[in-house]
Amino acid sequence: MIEEIKKLLKFPKNISILIHRNPDGDAIGSSLALKKYLEKKNHTVQVFAPSEYPHSLLFLPEIDTVMITDEEQEDSERIISRADVIFCLDFNALDRIDKIDHAVSNNTKAVKIIIDHHLDPEPFADFIISDTEASSTSEMIYQFIADLGDLHLMDPIIGEYIFTGIITDTGSFRYGTRPETYEVAAALKKVGVDDYFIQDKITNSLVEMNLRLLGHCLANRMEVLEDHRAAYIYLTKKDYKTFDIKRGDTEGIVNYLLMMKNVDIAAFIMEQPTIVKISLRSKGDISVQEMASRHFRGGGHKNASGGGVYAKLEDIINRFKEVVPNYASKTQLL
Ligand code: 5GP
Ligand code: MN
Repeated sequence: MIEEIKKLLKFPKNISILIHRNPDGDAIGSSLALKKYLEKKNHTVQVFAPSEYPHSLLFLPEIDTVMITDEEQEDSERIISRADVIFCLDFNALDRIDKIDHAVSNNTKAVKIIIDHHLDPEPFADFIISDTEASSTSEMIYQFIADLGDLHLMDPIIGEYIFTGIITDTGSFRYGTRPETYEVAAALKKVGVDDYFIQDKITNSLVEMNLRLLGHCLANRMEVLEDHRAAYIYLTKKDYKTFDIKRGDTEGIVNYLLMMKNVDIAAFIMEQPTIVKISLRSKGDISVQEMASRHFRGGGHKNASGGGVYAKLEDIINRFKEVVPNYASKTQLL
């Protein structure tokens, strides 16, 4: 497969790179890294995200070159329709890119390549590079460049993008790592990546309102289900107004629940204008991926998943409480 891709990329091509809605550090990091690498190989490259990226990533050079397809639907469709190659990074199903999915499926002449670390990739591409053990898609991009024999093109900027993806998807090397994750990180540091700078930008990016919102979540919106070693936080539409919550402001709050030693399953349930979104996290062998796909029209990874349902906030809270014993019982036996 890699030989065929190598042949495909031998001569300059028009390349579109797509990432998922609400892109995180890994989606943005992997796509900008691949873009910069492909540009060094003389390709013409455009990155597309369906919606805005978090402000904490604004320090990344060239992040402003990412086209937001919600805002520039027609131009995006036009560019994607002309692409010779389409890369889909950090997502496993076309519904993760929403309205822009037609632009991908309508372009029947482009070669489509998925590079992703989520479980069960949908077979919508010509080449699927799937590694569910990888910490991040960014880690896979490093390997991809290595497999193409181009590690000599690695530089501090490409390295910064990849490092950003790795630390955002592993909570700064706390989960989802494997030996290769550290090997890639070490190699990046060797080419001159400033890891301290990136860690600081990613971790210390909050403003006062973020901490006040966190305080509100923990003091007024948190419930612990002791019998099932689970806990959840919910936010109402009114909370969104009161705290003027924007996309990305709630990121990471769910992880606080797992800081309790008697909690193995955490949910963050958000009442949005039309749907209720749920973020799920778990410790160890408990699969919230299964919970998300069975009960909340979503998916993701074993220990970090999410979904969204057209329903009332109370219904989703009740659904979580109803199903959680099925997942919790396994750990209580331990
Ligand atoms: P988060 O809770 O941070 O929004 O998402 C955690 C992980 O769950 C993401 O990396 C993604 O893999 C997955 N995820 C979140 N929302 C959805 C969704 O609506 N559908 C699917 N299939 N996966 C989701
Ligand atoms: Mn990822």
